[in-house]
Formats: sequence, C-alpha cells, structure tokens
Amino acid sequence: IIEAKDVSKWYGTFRVLTDINLTVGKGERIVICGPSGSGKSTLIRCFNRLEAHQEGEIIVNGIRLHNRMRNVAEVRKHVGMVFQQFNLFPHMTVLMNCMVGPMWIKGVPEAAARKTALRFLERVRIPEQANKYPVRLSGGQQQRVAIARSLCMEPAVMLFDEPTSSLDPEMVAEVLETMTSLARDGMTMVCVTHEMGFARAVADRVLFMDSGRIVEEGKPQDFFTNPRHERTKLFLSQIL
Ligand code: ATP
Ligand code: MG
Repeated sequence: IIEAKDVSKWYGTFRVLTDINLTVGKGERIVICGPSGSGKSTLIRCFNRLEAHQEGEIIVNGIRLHNRMRNVAEVRKHVGMVFQQFNLFPHMTVLMNCMVGPMWIKGVPEAAARKTALRFLERVRIPEQANKYPVRLSGGQQQRVAIARSLCMEPAVMLFDEPTSSLDPEMVAEVLETMTSLARDGMTMVCVTHEMGFARAVADRVLFMDSGRIVEEGKPQDFFTNPRHERTKLFLSQIL
C-alpha cells in the first residue's frame, strides 16, 4: 500500500528525512516511535502529501507522489489521517463531520453518507453522540469521531500521528481500544505513538527514528527485548 524508497526531505538547508526506506503491505500494522524532532510526523505527512519530499520515491496505493502531481486529492481519498488534535469541524454535528468527506470529495449521496456515518459511529461505539457538536464531547469521544470520520472515506491505509498524546490519561484506553479493534479487522495502519503496550499488542513491525533516519526496525518482541542500537536502548529506557 505504501512504498518509500530512499526518501529525503529538507526544510531549507535542514535535512529532516534521510534515505527513508519503508514498505507497508496490505493489512500490515506499523508503529513508529522516536524522540521529539526525529521526523516522525514529517514522514507520515509525506504519505498523504501534506508535505512534499525532495528525493526518492513514494508510491501510495499505486499513485506515485511527485512535485508536478495534480491529483493530490485523489491520494487523500485513499489515506485516512488522525492527528493529535482532533481537527473536527466545530460548527458541524458529529454526524455531519462524518458525512461531508464522502459527500463533498467522493460525491456520495446524502442518504448513503448518513448510513455510512452511522455505521462507523457504531463501529467506534458512540452512535448516541451523532447529533451533538464536537465541543460537547470528551477528548476521547472526539478522537473516536475523528477516527470514524476517516473510516467513512473507506481508506486503504490509516495514518495516526500521536492520537492519544493530547488526551487525559483516563481517555487514552478507549482510543487505543478503537485502534486495536481496527487492527484486528485487518486495517492497514501506520501509527506514530509512544504507547508501547499498543505496539506490543498489534504492531507487525516497530520502527525507531532518530535525526530523520529509521535507525532500527523489528518485530515488537525483538524490538523491545533486544534492541540493537544504543540510541534505541536509551530511548526505550526513558519511556518504558
Ligand atoms: P514530535 O515527537 O515532537 O512530534 P516529530 O518526530 O514528529 O517530533 P517532526 O515534527 O517531523 O518531528 O519534525 C522534525 C524536525 O523538522 C524538527 O526538528 C522540526 O523542528 C522540523 N520542522 C518540522 N516542521 C517544520 C517546518 N514546517 N519548517 C521547518 N522545520 C520544520
Ligand atoms: Mg510529531
């Protein structure tokens, strides 16, 4: 679903990503961790073209991302993204938040969009919140709406950028549970998170980034019990 080959990116003269190679197959669950500023967000934002890379090749669901592309919207139809801040539309109900993407971007008729929205709101277990405005919901509920909203576009892959790190502790579990159940259903996922319990439970591979490079990559059991690089060891000792 995602193929990145020798990808590099600069902000001016600052090299933020260096020679990134990563393949994400259908149904794979990847967790990316690493220190602040290591380029995790930048990397996954390149996968839906929120950021442009300058070197190397990124192919997402068969579409090659490059500077002269005119169909960026087409790429984003295939790639769902959930952010640290939920980014819901505040002036729309929960239900409308979930309906507008399919209606405006895919041209889905209203009735069908409503049906899909309700289905995914049930999927994240908050159908009873459908007619409320986001501000009335808890952080955990808002994040679950954000997940449902992405799912309504029926993406080929879901990107998560620290989806639980702005939540109060008691709400982290419900969002991780939603993500875990998506993983169990076979969703292809790339998750930037420091929730190592989640990584152990669902990740096929864990990647560790430092200074814009993928420094280490492995199955969770190897990654956590037997990290090879000093920087990974140091990082894990700080967060575990
Ligand atoms: P965090 O864990 O804090 O979210 P991160 O690993 O997601 O960190 P990025 O947000 O990808 O890191 O940032 C990587 C580096 O790029 C940082 O040094 C950051 O200051 C820099 N950076 C990010 N966005 C820009 C920008 N728009 N212009 C210039 N530099 C940027
Ligand atoms: Mg980040």
